[in-house]
Amino acid sequence: MNSIPADSIFTGHDRVVSQPSLGVLGAGTMGTGIAQLLLASGLQVTVYDPHGDALSRATRAIEQGLGRLMQKGTLTAEFCSSALKNLTCTSTLSNISKLDGVIEAAPEDFALKVQLLSQVADVLSPEAFLATNTSSLSVSALAAALPDPSRLLGIHFFNPVHAMSLVELVRGDATADDVFERAWDLVEQIGKAPIACRDTPGFIVNRVARGYYGEALRLVGDHGAEPEDVDRALVLGLGFPLGPCALMDLIGMDVNLSVSRQVWQAFFYEARFAPHPLQQRLVDTGRLGRKTGHGFYRYPRAEITTPSEPSLPVRPLRVMFAGQSAALDAWARPLVAAGHHVELFGDHLESIAPGDWDGAFEIGEALPEVRAARRARLASCLPGNAWIASDDLSVTSTEIEVATGRVAWRFCAWPGGQSDVRKGIEVAFAPHCPEMRQEQVRALWQSTGREMLCGPDLPGLIGPRTLVMLINEAAFAVESGVATPEAIDRAMCLGTGYPCGPLEWADRVGPDRVVALLRTLRELFGERYRPAPWLVRRATAGWPLSDSPASSQRWR
Ligand code: NAD
Repeated sequence: MNSIPADSIFTGHDRVVSQPSLGVLGAGTMGTGIAQLLLASGLQVTVYDPHGDALSRATRAIEQGLGRLMQKGTLTAEFCSSALKNLTCTSTLSNISKLDGVIEAAPEDFALKVQLLSQVADVLSPEAFLATNTSSLSVSALAAALPDPSRLLGIHFFNPVHAMSLVELVRGDATADDVFERAWDLVEQIGKAPIACRDTPGFIVNRVARGYYGEALRLVGDHGAEPEDVDRALVLGLGFPLGPCALMDLIGMDVNLSVSRQVWQAFFYEARFAPHPLQQRLVDTGRLGRKTGHGFYRYPRAEITTPSEPSLPVRPLRVMFAGQSAALDAWARPLVAAGHHVELFGDHLESIAPGDWDGAFEIGEALPEVRAARRARLASCLPGNAWIASDDLSVTSTEIEVATGRVAWRFCAWPGGQSDVRKGIEVAFAPHCPEMRQEQVRALWQSTGREMLCGPDLPGLIGPRTLVMLINEAAFAVESGVATPEAIDRAMCLGTGYPCGPLEWADRVGPDRVVALLRTLRELFGERYRPAPWLVRRATAGWPLSDSPASSQRWR
């Protein structure tokens, strides 16, 4: 291997001198990515790593990375060659003394980082800033071990650095305003999107996203849901880019468990962050995901497909809609367009005459007893072989069947992340619902161009249950001053590819419905689902969640 001896310095010729010179401490995955990004932005970069072979690997990876940018036409050959001349690699710490700032990307070990940052603080000029790329350690705690804690902040890049535009700028308790401002400007200068957040476990993205994995693990581990059903409900039903099970396989079960455990421990074993035994079992049995060829899925594996064309013979059905008038039209219209015979009764249930109905929809928020009364009235007008469909998330389909004596199924009426035209509709039947009935419902949705996505018969279904956990965590984060609602929404969209920020999504669903579902889940499954007081207050007052006044609130 062409390794660089531990004490040598690789210095380019004919430097481009006009830009600030920065250091990257650690030449691993993140350090290499960060260094390449800085070089591609025209900056002078010194990479420090005590291991010469790590420096050699980083140099090669940077050359290849810049080469790819050149091939894509993003950078010119001249720029690439001068960018490479701006790269210095060293295993000697004193060689970084003249830098304007450093970004530390050394292993995630508190003692190691403190020692490294303290040595660097001694070597650098007092004006130079210090940044850490830590994912899970406290920036304030690292800073407290330095002679001048005001110099340190967190600049948290996401992997792969070149592809992920989000950078969380973490303000430690003592971080000086000018240090934060300089880092903000630097992140903008290198073409990334800085989002300010307070120093708190998991910062924004790794904290708010925990529920995406946590609910999937519970649905599969505790309730027997199939991973594929969970993923399809979230991807085809709500518009997430990748289902949580497929995502955990991609991240690596061990990496995901480690982050889950760190956040959970840092919050002193708060139930919202508790890892799940299924995660541990998958790790213990080597089912780490794509990297071992087996996680929730076996690899290679076909990705989730788009909805199939309607395949079943569809006879026109005669269905009625009862409930909240505003909700009826949106759900009835596609059925009418598909040739079904539909009648809307709103809340005028006394005008329904018993007849040869195939089924009835009971839709729209109301008190539980009002909804139960609606369904009882509908059942009294339906023939014995007809079904009742409801968007009630507070009960199971089994409960509706027992109460009405009719086949019952529930469906997710919540809006998807980007538009209300969804590729699939999540549906839950009572266990033992005859296959033939399920096929009739599948054909009904297929006739409207949407796939039926089956999940377990649980209150909250898969999609809404997962979504309220994301919303609730975002609300807890707002409440504790981690970041503004606007910043949290933006961070989640940029950092995870969610189709909509959780707080904006909550406004589309209705904060009161979010709170109602969390309360139902809390009653059934415990404190993990306790709604954030900020969320409850805003829902009670009828205020939106995402109406932050200010990008001017760059930090709070
Ligand atoms: P890595 O293991 O790939 O690289 C760490 C590098 O640090 C290695 O090259 C190692 O030789 C070097 N190193 C060891 N001791 C050192 C020292 N005393 N001084 C300087 N360098 C030293 O790790 P990584 O995945 O690049 O992660 C680095 C940091 O970035 C961690 O704090 C991690 O939590 C954080 N982070 C990682 C990711 C990710 O997805 N990998 C994402 C965001 C943040």
